[in-house]
Amino acid sequence: MLKDTLKTIEYYKSMNPICGELLDILGEILILREEYQRKIKDPIFQVDETLITGKMVGGLPLIDFSAGKFDLKEPKQYFIKLLKVAEERVFGETKEIARMVENGTLDFEKIVRHSFSTLDETGGEQDNKLDDDSIDLVELLAEESLRPELERVAEKYGEIINSSGWSQGYCPICGKEPKIGEIKEEEQRYLFCHQCGFEWSFTPIRCPFCGDEESLAYFTVEGNEKYRLDVCNMCKRYIKIVDFRDTRTKVNLDVEDIATLHLDILAYEEGYD
Ligand SMILES: [Zn+2]
Ligand SMILES: [Zn+2]
Repeated sequence: MLKDTLKTIEYYKSMNPICGELLDILGEILILREEYQRKIKDPIFQVDETLITGKMVGGLPLIDFSAGKFDLKEPKQYFIKLLKVAEERVFGETKEIARMVENGTLDFEKIVRHSFSTLDETGGEQDNKLDDDSIDLVELLAEESLRPELERVAEKYGEIINSSGWSQGYCPICGKEPKIGEIKEEEQRYLFCHQCGFEWSFTPIRCPFCGDEESLAYFTVEGNEKYRLDVCNMCKRYIKIVDFRDTRTKVNLDVEDIATLHLDILAYEEGYD
């Protein structure tokens, strides 16, 4: 599985050198992620199974970060490792950030709380110490720092959630908003969460962000029917959608997200964010 994904990464690198460095970083992240997952003995996120149905009906994600105290020692170490990977590749700022997280000048828990943004709006203050590019990268790596643990929750409870009728545009596991999704069998649109790797079915006739049903549109690029942008003219947000049904290959949406950076640029140019 990982081997196939790394092959896909190499393929996209040759097709699209612009995102080569980011794809290289992703390749290294995927290896570290698997390593982390193999080592998990005591999962950080525990789920009270008696509450699942109620939460799903009420639109509450399974993991409520604001409600609990979690042992973030391992995710913090993973986060520092991720920053160092990024440092070796391109980003000059991340070494400094890794140092600040290590010595406590930057509070890892605050960064992580900020990452659960749909549930919790705290944690903005430390951002002032960083420039804009670093913030994007730090957010991305903060998401990833929780991924191995959250993915375990998604694997364990995914089936129950799929049959629970979850109808929200944010992730039922961790509350994160999606950036990319895919079309699967029978025109079903699935949204993907980067923070936990979960995918859930979501009606194509509603905006995942504001719920509007009247102002939706989509466009494709240069006749490439595999990729499209679903946009909402009410809230001006967008989501990237891939459709690989005809190739029958298993799609890795972490990889697709980076390989479709040109779609993000297009969306920004058209006034969506
Ligand atoms: Zn999630
Ligand atoms: Zn909308």
